[in-house]
Amino acid sequence: LRATGEKYDAIIVGGGTAGCVLADRLSADENKRVLVLEAGPKGDTWETWVPAGITRLFNHPVLDWGLKTVSQKQLTEREVYLARGKALGGSSCTNATLYHRGTAADYDSWGLEGWKSDELLKWFNQAENFEDGPVSPYHGVGGAMHVERPRYDTPMHENFFKSCANAGLPANPDFNDWSRPQAGYGEFLVSQKKGQRADANRMYLKPAMGRPNLEVVTEARTTKIMFDRAAGVLPKAVGVQFSQGGANESAQLAEGGEVLMCSGAVHSPHLLQLSGIGPAAQLQQLGIEVVSDLPGVGQNLQDHPATLVGCLTAEEFDDLAVTSQIYNKKSEVKKRRVLQYLLTKTGPLATTGCDHGAFLSTTGSGDPDLQMRFVPAFSLDPDGVQAYIKFAELKRLGQSWPCGVTIQLLAVRPKSRGSVGLRSTDPFANPAIDLNYYSDPEGADIRTLREGIRLARNIFRQQPLASYIKEEKWPGPQVQEDADLDAFIRSSTCSGNALVGTCRMGLPEDPNAVVSATDLSVRGVSGVRVVDSSVIPRIPGGQTGAATVMVAERAAAMLTSKQPMVRGSPGSIGDKQ
Ligand code: FAD
Repeated sequence: LRATGEKYDAIIVGGGTAGCVLADRLSADENKRVLVLEAGPKGDTWETWVPAGITRLFNHPVLDWGLKTVSQKQLTEREVYLARGKALGGSSCTNATLYHRGTAADYDSWGLEGWKSDELLKWFNQAENFEDGPVSPYHGVGGAMHVERPRYDTPMHENFFKSCANAGLPANPDFNDWSRPQAGYGEFLVSQKKGQRADANRMYLKPAMGRPNLEVVTEARTTKIMFDRAAGVLPKAVGVQFSQGGANESAQLAEGGEVLMCSGAVHSPHLLQLSGIGPAAQLQQLGIEVVSDLPGVGQNLQDHPATLVGCLTAEEFDDLAVTSQIYNKKSEVKKRRVLQYLLTKTGPLATTGCDHGAFLSTTGSGDPDLQMRFVPAFSLDPDGVQAYIKFAELKRLGQSWPCGVTIQLLAVRPKSRGSVGLRSTDPFANPAIDLNYYSDPEGADIRTLREGIRLARNIFRQQPLASYIKEEKWPGPQVQEDADLDAFIRSSTCSGNALVGTCRMGLPEDPNAVVSATDLSVRGVSGVRVVDSSVIPRIPGGQTGAATVMVAERAAAMLTSKQPMVRGSPGSIGDKQ
């Protein structure tokens, strides 16, 4: 820390997506002293700038947490890898940059006053800077979060669209337009600025870095929230402990200051539990002193489970695969592509590879339960994330990436719920993460993906795509019956990277709510709020970055200007209460 004895009005734990939004908004008031503690490094490397760099970020030794689930019985006993960004900007630096809000019904289904879609629209719009301008009531301009259309195109995208049309699917010109159904095929929007990733670090934090009242400490892992536990009053946060370069440090709150948990849907509940906030019986079993007995901490974990259909295309179409455009026969990056990207910020390096696709209802009614992401490349493995890890092997052997096309399938309105718990009291031990996919009693989630495989195959059977395809490799033509498809799904499922819900907000009478929907304060203590993807009570049907930024923007407005989320919420940080 800059000065010994310094006290802060806000200690932001985690300089990720939400943390960067808060750091910028709160430090705009020069009277507030704001500290950000981020476990990862600055993380401003080319892999995070260049969208195609995403292939290097999965399992990255420095910029990714390298998390794994506990053994998943329903996924052939696999420990599933979970990507999570570890750097300033957090997962916004390592994600696929797709900009989706979900539908209005996603937010209305939360049933929370102050969080209905008609109230949230303004916050989504306020955060957005849409390159096309103020084209509809469902887009904003002038916000920090830059949004644009994908800048890479290949004839394969058009072929996908034509095959979708021939399969009888409708086109959707804007998946974020809440006045029309979400279903259809089309181009996704991306959180990029002129072909470069527009993550929360670059869009929010960097412009604020020169402020004297903002202190950002990287490679500083918070290990515990400290409380003052005077008799007769709620335990009150007084600061945090953190570890930096092997040394144990602490940071103190000023009178009326607050700890703002922005560590994401895995680490926010983990840190609360380590600090004595969680299911009392489980904490006591590990000898942790209970500060607030909250059974909901770590529960309600939600994500989009994902599988795929992957086909090889005939060699004469090699040039059309994004991988063949980027890599030569020895799997080295082609210099002319680097030049094209540097000079024009277009071409195959300007894409994360999955920015065209569809949202579809496999049941024929309601909001889509399925998202398709069309990838103009062959997935080297039926587990889409392992494909990148296999590529490293190809590269080592000097072999080329075979050409093909893939449709990634995600169950985007899943019903299964998992959890994040403690393995031990060691703050450096990864938590016990149980995704618990396909545990919904009706079997709706696996059904979505099973029908999704059939729909994807139907698209691949249509012209013009059909004339390019040599062979279906994943799941393979022999896999047709429900039971065989389910077996394929269970053995290939990877995370769709949309973890939410583990510190969910709710009403006072809801025993499993962790934070108040009125002001995101943690129940049973004072001076701690959670402001990140973990407060989202029910996963929206689309990627979760935009919703996380919306939550953080709202929280920041409440904390800085006393603009309540709901009438009757408390005042801003740093005020004596
Ligand atoms: P994060 O952004 O993950 O931030 C948490 C931060 O806290 C991290 O920087 C972390 O290092 C830090 N931290 C954790 N523990 C500690 C500790 N103890 N001490 C200090 N710091 C700590 N969303 C989209 O909208 N579109 C997409 O295309 C998309 N694709 C994705 C692809 C991948 C591979 C991933 C991982 C995510 C993707 N997402 C996508 C999801 C989206 O990025 C997340 O929902 C969002 O970034 C979550 O924001 P957050 O603030 O909750 O957490």
